[in-house]
Amino acid sequence: MLEAPFSLGLGSRNEESLTLCYLVHQAGGWLMVDSGYNDRGCYDALCQQLDALGISLRDIRWLVITHYHPDHSGLSALIRAASGARVVLHRDDWNILQSIVGSSEEWNIHGLIPWVKSLGVPPTEIDGFRQMATFGRRLFPMGLDVDVLLQGEENPVGDSGHLRAILTPGHSPGHICIYDQKDKLLFSGDHVLVEITPHISPSHLTSRDQLRQYLAALRKVQHLDVDLVLPAHERPFGHLSRRVDEILDHHSKRLEEVLQSLFGQMLSPWDIAHRVEWDVGRWDQMDATNRVLAVRETVAHLQLLEQRGQVAPVERDGVNLYKLAGDG
Ligand SMILES: [Zn+2]
Repeated sequence: MLEAPFSLGLGSRNEESLTLCYLVHQAGGWLMVDSGYNDRGCYDALCQQLDALGISLRDIRWLVITHYHPDHSGLSALIRAASGARVVLHRDDWNILQSIVGSSEEWNIHGLIPWVKSLGVPPTEIDGFRQMATFGRRLFPMGLDVDVLLQGEENPVGDSGHLRAILTPGHSPGHICIYDQKDKLLFSGDHVLVEITPHISPSHLTSRDQLRQYLAALRKVQHLDVDLVLPAHERPFGHLSRRVDEILDHHSKRLEEVLQSLFGQMLSPWDIAHRVEWDVGRWDQMDATNRVLAVRETVAHLQLLEQRGQVAPVERDGVNLYKLAGDG
């Protein structure tokens, strides 16, 4: 296990974050799972750890990226160039990554602001969304070529013959977990983490189906024969099936909470997000970043409730209000 560090500085948030990367020994060389942000300090930290292990970058044959987010994909272009490793990514994430690194500086902005307004976000808070959309673009890999584009639900990866990538969409459309059936290991990326739940982040660019997909993908891995889960954040853990139950439970409570907030009233996602109890603290004390995350998380739950026929949107002056489906 390697630790790829990075200090995030957006608004008032300045947290040290860590991506856990893994090296799997195979006959022909190492297979690496995930990299860190595209940042010099992060790259140097990984190289130092490889040195300490007596592993040369050139011994890395494969670099498998669990999903396109920059804390996982960021260093892939640099590592590929330095090692000759073949980079593996799912096609559904590669499409997004290409649109991010290939577009102009203000990527994601076109269409973002009307979408944010439709959530009922007041004008004074819109900048938080704009900042989040533009922040971090430089942390993605630039000029990356992918050697193996995975498609569909399951694919073998590497040389060992017992690693397979399982498509687990939700946190991102092409997120994969890597299952080692022989050694009973699951490299879970951000799909299953021991304490936090991965952010489900709808936007004007994503499908309206993310939470449903995520919950289905949790069930897909829940009963794999696994002794140890090796996630990309926090720490490894053993209790996969129980942890999946906890996450499923978290989301059913959240769905119920969102539903409760609509009894007798129509509200925008922004207003509903105020009424939800967030683990990071009270709404009025949250910074802009956490508010953005909270509203998007609320939208993900509203979209699932709408699919289930429990809530219905009502458009008022460009804002999507929600009401309970039975209410007139
Ligand atoms: Zn991550």
